[in-house]
This record gives sequence, structure tokens and C-alpha cells, in this order.
Amino acid sequence: MAVFVLGKNKQPLMPCSEKRARLLLERGRAVVVNLTPFVIRLRDRCLSDCALQPTLLGIDPGSKETGLTLMRLENNATEEKAPATRHGLCLFQLVHRGFQIRQALEQRAGFRRRRRSKNLRYRQPRFDNRTRKKGWLPPSLQHRVDTTMAWVDKLCRWAPVTHLNMELVRFDLQKMENPEISGVEYQQGTLLGYEVREYLLEKWGRECAYCGTGDTPLEIEHVVAKSRDGSSRVSNLTIACHECNQAKDNQWLTDFFATDKGLKKRLKANGLSATVRLERVQRQLKLPLRDATAVNATRWTLFGTMKATGLPVAVGSGGRTKYSRQRLGIPKTHALDAACVGKFDTLKGWRAPTQVIKAMGRGSYQRTRLDKYGFPRGYLMRQKQVQGFQTGDRVRAVVPSGKKAGTHTGRVAIRKTGSFNIQTEQGAVQGISWRHCTLLQRGDGYGYHPLPTIQS
Ligand SMILES: [Zn+2]
Repeated sequence: MAVFVLGKNKQPLMPCSEKRARLLLERGRAVVVNLTPFVIRLRDRCLSDCALQPTLLGIDPGSKETGLTLMRLENNATEEKAPATRHGLCLFQLVHRGFQIRQALEQRAGFRRRRRSKNLRYRQPRFDNRTRKKGWLPPSLQHRVDTTMAWVDKLCRWAPVTHLNMELVRFDLQKMENPEISGVEYQQGTLLGYEVREYLLEKWGRECAYCGTGDTPLEIEHVVAKSRDGSSRVSNLTIACHECNQAKDNQWLTDFFATDKGLKKRLKANGLSATVRLERVQRQLKLPLRDATAVNATRWTLFGTMKATGLPVAVGSGGRTKYSRQRLGIPKTHALDAACVGKFDTLKGWRAPTQVIKAMGRGSYQRTRLDKYGFPRGYLMRQKQVQGFQTGDRVRAVVPSGKKAGTHTGRVAIRKTGSFNIQTEQGAVQGISWRHCTLLQRGDGYGYHPLPTIQS
């Protein structure tokens, strides 16, 4: 992974290789600014002494994880000019904690309800005082936007980012020109094929249209079989699991639902009724998918905030990302998806290790834990620091003797007794005295660990 380089006056310069960074540090030409991700500052050069290349930050927003990939563009080749070559510099996978936030808020609501209902009877609300601003997102979703933007800002501070590139929609309706009306033919392996596939997946809820099985590879299925003169227009296509696709063969839809034993078995396993399911398929076939459902609120908000940074933001569709990724034979990870967003020709240097950045939160306000009956149990300490250490700090502990003798480096979790737990790359080490610990980097609300390089 490339090392971020800052100039003498802290402006971002082009990232350099790890080897070069090591030499610069050895010769005393640079100082360390940040450990993970590694950032150095040159002592003798500033922005005016250096030539910068156009740098692109690709973003693939997801519900649990977001991919962020910093790329260098080949000699002044902007996005429009062909052939556009991208060089991967740094790959990041940002892990969100939306679920934990939701859980914490639900728990807090539970505590409040218990406290209130203990002494006060229920009173009907006299007016609706629960107004929400336009563009309000639930805290768990807002967190995704906030953490992603925090990292976009951070990377823009460490690298001379000139373009932002983000996956906004799952498929491009403009490209398909309303597929239900105009006759777009589906062909495997083309860009349009990928857009159509994503469209169908979205329309049919990412499960087999016939039996409702979700976690299985899904295939594109002709409702009226090709051999019966069925067209390849999108309005004649659904998405089905391998078993259903094989079993249906060239049968009519009603015959298939009436006779097939395998389908009945699968429907029963998924708790669905055949008649209801058949009706749903027939109804859904006629229904065009609304444009709005393809883009979720979080992505729009993220797009809006990203535009506010002032950098040019290009958007791509999920169909195009997948098309580019499979065309170049690149495996699927969040960071590599981010590298493949938008229009380009070749991608180099993607076989780099990915840095996982996990949002850890900054502790809770709750000063007690509950037993299984919901009663408070014991009290947690009030102060957040013990002997100058705080949960989330990166420390190195050198233990001279005993069972845990050796050097442990990682994220520390403090205890009032001064006997800490350290989360190292090999696993957790418990009961390390604060006396053995030295602070490497203050906690910033994130945990870091590398993902191994993909060999293929
Ligand atoms: Zn099926």
C-alpha cells in the first residue's frame, strides 16, 4: 500500500511507495504524522517543488461496508479521454456500525420507557411534536454518510484528490431507456446485460421469482420460453434459482406452478403458497419498476454531501461496476468495487493489500449494565481514562516475564484496575498491566487491520 506524503506546509503531495518512505525517514528528510494509515511529512519540500498527477477517489457505498480506493490516473488522462488507465494506490474497506447504533438507541428508548412508566400513567399526546427536517435520515443511516464523508475528507487532506467517483444507482435506467416500454434486448456479457441483470435483481427482490429462495445464485429466466417465441425483452424476463430455471424448461407459467413437484417442495420450505406466488409473478411482470427504488436515500444524501466538497463527482451504476470488474477478471471485494466504479479501460496495481477500517464508536453514556430481568447490575466507572490510557488507543506492551511475556501491539481496552486487554492481530491478550504499555497513537474511533492480498 502506498504511503501518504505531506509537504513542508502540510499540503498533500503524491503518495509514495513504502520503500521510498522508509528511505526518507532513515535520512531524516521526513517525519511520521500518522501511523495507520501511514502518513509522513517531508521537511524539505513543499507543493511548488512537486508535480502532481490527477488522482481519483472511488467510493462504493454499501449498507455494512463501504469501499474506498485511491487511484492515480495515467498521465493527465481525464475521465473522458480514452484509454483511461487507473493505478490503485490505497485500498480501504470501511466497516460501519449501523446495527449497533440502532440497537443502542432501542435500548435507550427501553430504559426511558421503563423510567417513565414506573411513576407516570400513560397520557395521550396532545399534539404532534415529532417533526423531522427534510432529508432526515435515521441515526444508523446518517452514521454511514458521516463516517464515509469523514474518510473522504481525511483522504483529501492526505492525498491530492482531484476527482470523486461514486456508485449512485444499482442500474442505469437512462441507458436502458425504460426497458418495459422500449424493447431492450438482453444479452449476456454486454454492459447492457449487466444493467438488465441488476434491474431484474432489484425488481424481483433478489430472490427466485418462483420459489422465493434467496441465498443462491440466480439466473435470468424467460417467462415465455424462447422456444415458444418468447422475446428477450425485459418485460418477459425474471430471475430464478437454478432448480426452477431447469425445471420450468419451456413450460407455460401456469402449468409449471400447477404440476412441478420440486417447486412445490421449495415453496413449502419457504412457507409460500403456490397460488399467491403465481399471482404475484403475473402482477409483477406487468409492473415497471419505479426509478426511485433503484437509489436509496443514503446514497442520495452521500452524493449531495460529496458535491458540497467542491470536487467534481462522477457517478456510475452497479451494473457498469460489475461489467468492468468481470471484463478485467477482478475478484469482488468492496475496495475493488470502488476501484471499478465508472467508465475506464484498464486497472493496474489492484493486487494490493486492503486496509480494513472499522468504526468502533467511542463508548457509551450508560453507567450500568442490566441483568436478564432488566434491572441495573453494578456500576461502571465514570472516567474514560486510566493512567493516561483510553479504550481505543494503539499501544505497545513489552512484558518482561510471566505467562504473557513478549511484545504485544494493538488496540487497548482499559480497566479501572490498570490491568488492560490488548486486541492484537493474532487475537486478544488479557490482563496486561498499564506499566508495560507505551502509547503509539491516540484512539480515533476506528479499529484497523489489514486484509491479505488477493492472489489470482
Ligand atoms: Zn426457485
